[in-house]
Amino acid sequence: MSDPFTPTRPKIISVANQKGGVGKTTTTINLAAALVELGYRVLVVDLDPQGNASTGLGIALDDREFTTYELLLEDIDLQDVILDTAFKNLMVIPATVDLSSADIELISNEKRSFLLHDALRQPQMAKFDLDYILIDCPPSLNLLTVNAMIASHSVLVPLQSEFFALEGLSQLMLTVREVRQTGNPKLRIEGVVMTMHDARNNLSQQVEQDARDNLGELVFKTRIPRNVRVSEAPSYSMPVLSYDSASKGALAYRDLAKELVGNDMTVGA
Ligand code: ADP
Ligand code: MG
Repeated sequence: MSDPFTPTRPKIISVANQKGGVGKTTTTINLAAALVELGYRVLVVDLDPQGNASTGLGIALDDREFTTYELLLEDIDLQDVILDTAFKNLMVIPATVDLSSADIELISNEKRSFLLHDALRQPQMAKFDLDYILIDCPPSLNLLTVNAMIASHSVLVPLQSEFFALEGLSQLMLTVREVRQTGNPKLRIEGVVMTMHDARNNLSQQVEQDARDNLGELVFKTRIPRNVRVSEAPSYSMPVLSYDSASKGALAYRDLAKELVGNDMTVGA
């Protein structure tokens, strides 16, 4: 057991890519579930006004009285905003469409880029005894995503195996560089994970090869295959690991979690 006050526990990871539909939310939910299976306590922070991570983890709209909006912009007790899910050791701070106005409201706030950082580092956080916090970012490089990156130890980038996938990465890396210069010099790239991969498809193979040629070790060995069970699971309010435990998608997310933990032995279970 690592010391709960070491700065890397809980380890905070932003799941980010400014493109929509590349697998951010799917990766957040399922990586979280796979880390829980490995024995860790995990919090998902839903930082997308679409609230898909909240929905996918079974948090009904009616149950989202307090959300990431209040976490950022109001003085709120962590106890009220960190919700249990149906899955033991998996918690979520939900989001609603309210969060869409936060980006603008943040601009006039002196601490605008540091609100999530400060919220997640309140002393009361220790009570939750978390090992990992995964932040599901919106499809934009706005102030919400900057808040996530300032708050994080690292950024995990889902990359959909399709044409032009790599083009958006340079913009994302620029933002990471800016965040390093303005408030979080230690921000690391956790890795790039190929999502919705189809090994029989030439384009998928080509994109993966380009990613590995350009980014080398930064690309996770694990690839997430395109798998219909993965896309069905959210409508049953479950990670695919619970919905279809033996599916290819579930197996891949388990591999990803092991690779992630293996890359970073500073986090204790
Ligand atoms: P983002 O959060 O980046 O917008 P999502 O995680 O919501 O992306 O994924 C976009 C869509 O692709 C969703 O409908 C999701 O169910 C589907 N999807 C994601 N990963 C897979 C996969 N490995 N296999 C099949 N469908 C997937
Ligand atoms: Mg999403």
